[in-house]
Amino acid sequence: MVKTTRIAVIPGDGIGKEVMEEALKVLAKLQEQDQSLQIATTIFPWSSDYYLQHGRMMPADALDTLRGYDAILFGAIGDARVPDDVTVWELIMPIRKQFQQYVNFRPIKSLPGIASPLANGKDIDFVIFRENAEGEYSNSGGRIYHNQPQEMTIQNTIMTRIGIEKIVQAACDYAHKYGKSKITSATKSNAIIHSMKFWDEHTKNILAQTSPALTLESIYIDALVAYFVERPQDFEVVVASNLFGDILSDLGSAIVGGLGLSPSANLNPEKEFPSMFEPVHGSAPDIAGRGVANPIAQIWSLALLLGHIGRPDTEELIVTAIETVLSEGVVKTADIGGRATTAHMGDAICQAIVKKK
Ligand code: ATP
Ligand code: MG
Repeated sequence: MVKTTRIAVIPGDGIGKEVMEEALKVLAKLQEQDQSLQIATTIFPWSSDYYLQHGRMMPADALDTLRGYDAILFGAIGDARVPDDVTVWELIMPIRKQFQQYVNFRPIKSLPGIASPLANGKDIDFVIFRENAEGEYSNSGGRIYHNQPQEMTIQNTIMTRIGIEKIVQAACDYAHKYGKSKITSATKSNAIIHSMKFWDEHTKNILAQTSPALTLESIYIDALVAYFVERPQDFEVVVASNLFGDILSDLGSAIVGGLGLSPSANLNPEKEFPSMFEPVHGSAPDIAGRGVANPIAQIWSLALLLGHIGRPDTEELIVTAIETVLSEGVVKTADIGGRATTAHMGDAICQAIVKKK
């Protein structure tokens, strides 16, 4: 008997709900064709609407509920009626923190039929491991001398040796698994002399100890962003602190065709807790409700989830189906220069899966 995998689904707000419908359609199609894909989904309506009704983004025992699942598929959250810090700090952050999802993983891959803003953007294929739990994004710091000329602020960066070792190790493990030979580390130790020197030192140590066969290159962040544009084909696995990784991931998404195509994973590599898979984009209130959002980022996030729970064959099937639809170039949503609806794109990917099987 194959064990049933339990997935918690949080569609969220705006286009999150619309693109999630297509991801679930794809999942249903996969299950229809493959009896061994035993997956049960539970939908949780935690969203801004939920907040407006209940005064909180999710119930008090939500994290306990989620703990019982193998993975979380998340849509997007955000609504003009709810402050941004509420949506982030009361839903996304608690999930990331509670379940020790210290890796933010993003594949940056050029796709057929998608114009890259770079002249030679064709064979870009690398991944980013962004530290997701500490670093520059801490709430340690403050302000003094309010409204006085000497008013000042301090914002602390917190980096731990174990935190650096874990993110770098996760990047090395990926490199081994997928036959990559080089790790690129984003740094700025020439100017940020405490935290970034510490980052460099422990990155180097962990590679020397556990992965001596991998080449390590450390590149200053200012140069690295330029290289992302000038020679993105050179990268294989990029590892970065929270802030640098945030910036690099959005740039990475832009050089291969934009938000509608960019998936991400918040991983707890030890699988002690559920990991969460979500598109990079937000709820896109400007296009919500019109059925025109591109569901590829959400469908690809589902693919990453399936890979994580031990079905890399199914992950590959979905990614190949996405590539097939894009290379045919018939069904395209508005963000990639077409007129297809969200549902058309979902249907086309389902059909490509059927043909492939
Ligand atoms: P939020 O506050 O939830 O982050 P936002 O509008 O700030 O929302 P995004 O939702 O990420 O940010 O959207 C940024 C831009 O990209 C918007 O113009 C949006 O329409 C477009 N966009 C985002 N996702 C998609 C998608 N899946 N398909 C098409 N366009 C998209
Ligand atoms: Mg946004």
